[in-house]
Amino acid sequence: MTNPRQKVVLQIHQHSKSAEDYQGRPGADIFGELVFNDAAQIQYLSKDVYKRLKATTAVGEPLDAGIAQEVAQGMKEWALSHGATHYTHWFIPMTGLAAEKHDTFLEPTPTGRAIAEFDGKTLIKGEPDASSFPSGGTRATFEARGYTAWDPTSPAFIIKEANGATLYIPTAFVSYTEEALDFKTPLLRSMEALSVQALRALRLFGNESAKRVFTTMGPEQEYFLIDRRFYEQRPDLIAAGRTLFGAAPYRGQELEDHYFGSIRERILAFMMDLDRELWRLGIPAKTRHNEVAPAQFEIAPVFEKSSITADHNMLVMEMLRRVALRHGLVCLLHEKPFAGINGNGKHNNWSMATDRGENLLEPGGTPHENAQFLAFLTAVLSAVDKYAELLRVGISGPGNDHRLGANEAPPAIISVFLGEQLDDIVSQLEKGPASSSKQGGTMELGVSVLPPLPKDATDRNRTSPFAFTGNKFEFRAVGSTAPVHFPNTILNTIVAEQLDELATELEKPGDLAPKLAAALQSRIRAHKRVVFNGNGYSEAWHKEAAKRGLPNLRTTPDALHAMSKPEYKALFAKYRVLDHREYEAREEILWERYVKVVAIEALATADIARNQILPAALKHQAQVAGALRAAEGLVREPQNAAAKALGTVVSDLNALDAAVAALGQAQEGADGAATLPLRAEAYRDAVLPAMLAVRSVVDRMEGYVSDELWPLPKYREMLFVY
Ligand code: ADP
Ligand code: MG
Repeated sequence: MTNPRQKVVLQIHQHSKSAEDYQGRPGADIFGELVFNDAAQIQYLSKDVYKRLKATTAVGEPLDAGIAQEVAQGMKEWALSHGATHYTHWFIPMTGLAAEKHDTFLEPTPTGRAIAEFDGKTLIKGEPDASSFPSGGTRATFEARGYTAWDPTSPAFIIKEANGATLYIPTAFVSYTEEALDFKTPLLRSMEALSVQALRALRLFGNESAKRVFTTMGPEQEYFLIDRRFYEQRPDLIAAGRTLFGAAPYRGQELEDHYFGSIRERILAFMMDLDRELWRLGIPAKTRHNEVAPAQFEIAPVFEKSSITADHNMLVMEMLRRVALRHGLVCLLHEKPFAGINGNGKHNNWSMATDRGENLLEPGGTPHENAQFLAFLTAVLSAVDKYAELLRVGISGPGNDHRLGANEAPPAIISVFLGEQLDDIVSQLEKGPASSSKQGGTMELGVSVLPPLPKDATDRNRTSPFAFTGNKFEFRAVGSTAPVHFPNTILNTIVAEQLDELATELEKPGDLAPKLAAALQSRIRAHKRVVFNGNGYSEAWHKEAAKRGLPNLRTTPDALHAMSKPEYKALFAKYRVLDHREYEAREEILWERYVKVVAIEALATADIARNQILPAALKHQAQVAGALRAAEGLVREPQNAAAKALGTVVSDLNALDAAVAALGQAQEGADGAATLPLRAEAYRDAVLPAMLAVRSVVDRMEGYVSDELWPLPKYREMLFVY
């Protein structure tokens, strides 16, 4: 006899999907074919309009409203040529999931036919009903309407389905009082703030040519793939995105044989399709490989401007989900889908570059270039130390709490890895301006010539949450499901402030070299405590970090309490990234989200325990009791094993019943807490442990309840059979 779960195990080898033959169809031919990119714009717009649009997209000049009509026409013609029937403004509301509402181009004509229409006004502004999106109290119901505003810096694209095509127009989502209701608007504002301050600093180093500084970002995205038939039998995965039950498999990741291992045919077929879907959308997907955990994988694109990457990463996550389904797989993006097995992260590679492509975190070849590099590096270092709590806020969330500090992801303590060479240079800078001088036009900082910095992965410290990796920083603690917008908004804003302060100091009268040496010295003295090159997983580091006074905000509620500090609010207001109301709205939404997510998990835990586990265990009890009774009078030996089995299941059933009841009470108590933060803390301190108590009984039962009675696909199946 096999149950539905066991049937899937037996069926999987039959899975076959007719493989696409991509040979003779080079990737380069399709790259960007579904994007209204330069090539499409040149074809569909007049030269003049193209140039004016380009000025907006390339250097961030405000959009020339006069060209909207023609751009809309060109975009429509291009979209129709791809078979599009609909368009949508595409935006990232505070749910963190992209939102879309489709309208057709078709308008009825008086003759009873229809023609495709799309005007400049519709391109520039959309008016979705905003009242059902979280606003954190920014919008009273009487002003429930919000609008979407075209973001011309992010190119429009087309999503093709088997049944048709839709034009997607990336937009910002704001209220009628111009408050940002989305993730995109603050990111764009933070990039603007950083650009202004970075240009001031660059001018001091004699750079007159740069017109704009962009932040650049490349996210390495981790994910799991499991067979869809298993997924459908796991209500916890469906409701919560993570398993709430599951005994540890006898084989986990201890053999360390999955990372960079050869990729199974079924997975490679998925990856081939995925890469091509992404290339068509102009997303430069570059690297694909097996990750550390069984059934875990990674995709990394080439970096782009942060705002483009942020949109692209939303599309990558969307395409991962869609393409997986086509292969009978489900993509799990949650930070911790399986307990005891590595979770998913998103390494946020970050740097700053001028519009001429000069990477400002690339060490230079001359003392002058190095002085500039060290100035920018120090600004980042100071920002990360001063605002470590804010960076922690940016990576907070109920999912990531399971990862941070679980000795697989960097700890919740924010520190910076510089590596030996840079560390040495920083120590020299700390010694100060005594030896700094301006000689023969070059600038000496009292630092011996920069040694070549290693850029290969070999000596990288994977335990550091914020590591310098040769010409960029890698912010490693970002959650895998998170839109990258928010952590990058924070990062850009805190660095903007530090560049502002540095530029202000250096703009004072006097020679640049001694001023710079003094400025760097004082900053390094103040902030070197954040530098840590050792093992971030070690207990010793936790002690050392506490001694250094570095914050250790272990959970999301801890981080959100820190978020309310007035100086943080003031920072975002000062650089016009978030005003007080926008900031407070985000605080509120993050608290709410935490409570809602854990509440759903708690309900799912109780329901699965009651409706699936309890009946299975009762059947098991009946089987054992029946066997015991059937043997009575036939067997002379005492039935120790059967009697023991019966005793175990009876006592665990009682334990399960009690644990489920306790969970219900804990949740009731949490729901009754007076304020949102108190509710969140009760969910953290009472409900999550109560869920774990239920789980521990269930996982124990999984170890002895007859395999054919066990309803939930097991870890050893989901992670190894695909
Ligand atoms: P790895 O970390 O696997 O050794 P790389 O260092 O080449 O690989 O890059 C990892 C990620 O960092 C990629 O997404 C890459 O595009 C991105 N990256 C490289 N340079 C920069 C940069 N200047 N700014 C932002 N991201 C970058
Ligand atoms: Mg990396």
